[in-house]
Amino acid sequence: MITLKNGLVFIENDFVKTDVLIDNDKIIKISNDINEGQIIDCKGLLIAPSFMDSHVHFREPGYEQKETIYLGSRAAAKGGYTTVFLMPNINPKPNSIENLKYINSIIEKDSIIDSYQTGCITFDQSGLGDKLSNMEEIAPYVCGYSDDGCGVYKSSTMFEAMKIAAKLDKPIISHCEDRDMLFGGCVHEGEWSKKVGLKGIPGVSETLEIARNAALAKVTGAHLHVCHTSIKESVDLIRYYKSIGCNISCEATPHHLISIDEDINPNDANWKMNPPLASREDRDALIEGLKDGTVNCIATDHAPHTEEEKARGIEKAPFGITGIEISFPLLYTELVKTNKISLNLLLNKMSHDMAETFKLKNHDIYVGNEANITIIDLDAHYQIDKNTFISKGKNTPYDGKWVYGKIKYTIKGGKIIYGM
Ligand SMILES: [Zn+2]
Repeated sequence: MITLKNGLVFIENDFVKTDVLIDNDKIIKISNDINEGQIIDCKGLLIAPSFMDSHVHFREPGYEQKETIYLGSRAAAKGGYTTVFLMPNINPKPNSIENLKYINSIIEKDSIIDSYQTGCITFDQSGLGDKLSNMEEIAPYVCGYSDDGCGVYKSSTMFEAMKIAAKLDKPIISHCEDRDMLFGGCVHEGEWSKKVGLKGIPGVSETLEIARNAALAKVTGAHLHVCHTSIKESVDLIRYYKSIGCNISCEATPHHLISIDEDINPNDANWKMNPPLASREDRDALIEGLKDGTVNCIATDHAPHTEEEKARGIEKAPFGITGIEISFPLLYTELVKTNKISLNLLLNKMSHDMAETFKLKNHDIYVGNEANITIIDLDAHYQIDKNTFISKGKNTPYDGKWVYGKIKYTIKGGKIIYGM
């Protein structure tokens, strides 16, 4: 048994000073004056439901030089997460029973958290062809379907995929970009890109594909989940489709919620990700979307790359930054400490609301629920140091940044999987 002693516990959207008793995998008692088993002194610490992340790249199998399931899951635990969705741009692709059995066997062996693999939409995950993955066959092995990294090119292909996904009651987790509208850009097209002379990706490339996919979701009844929403017009469009009863949800990343294109150092490819950081208005629209419920959850898009790859410069380096170990402190420092959003909202968007979005068991703290808990020191003030990351990916633009909020322990199913 474990007693979490004297913490401030996030229960039913409120903060309560109490003790929490964990026995085996479950929370069995919440009250004052518990002193059973191993006592963890949580005085001055926040006890919250452990985080969930609908968008991570653990790169395995296929790209173990960038990240592995072993290290990625431990990095996630360090960030306070116990549930993640793994994106499909790996090799072999998650498109058949055989491949999924293989991928899930690595997860079974190496992951210390709940890592759920997405299956491909198109067979080769390129989004280009008509051939779909074996969506029906792989349904029991996947949490949804995604070609993340690529948009799905043809409307008719997405239409077929959505009809099947609707029948199987699984979400389409969609990286929305119209590939004809990227123009070889490496940053967001706008005043800033023109000023520094970098090729831009127009934000409308995202909004266009969301518009098509939302329209298809409306007629097929499929659940469309839009990945890493980045543009004001996209948020507005998703808000509209929600208002007319479309089964659409979306996520935003920590970096799109706290940074804008003007923050980018053009000489540092650790500022390069897809979609790129957009304007201040876009960032503010995402925060508004968090508040009014248009943005369902926060997902890191943790995307490790090697230092050699990122050393190629902002035009040639691959897109993507890491973030699963530093998402909470960044968001807490930049959004909560600045009074842009409440701590309650942040905690919900990182856990409860993702469970709601994907109909997963939540990590809420109540007697009888499985003990999936993150313990946080909100007052800890420190500098982010990429060299302390468990993740292989050190590609973050936030190295050296001063933040508040440190994860002290992560508990999954009653077991301490990360602790300082
Ligand atoms: Zn993506």
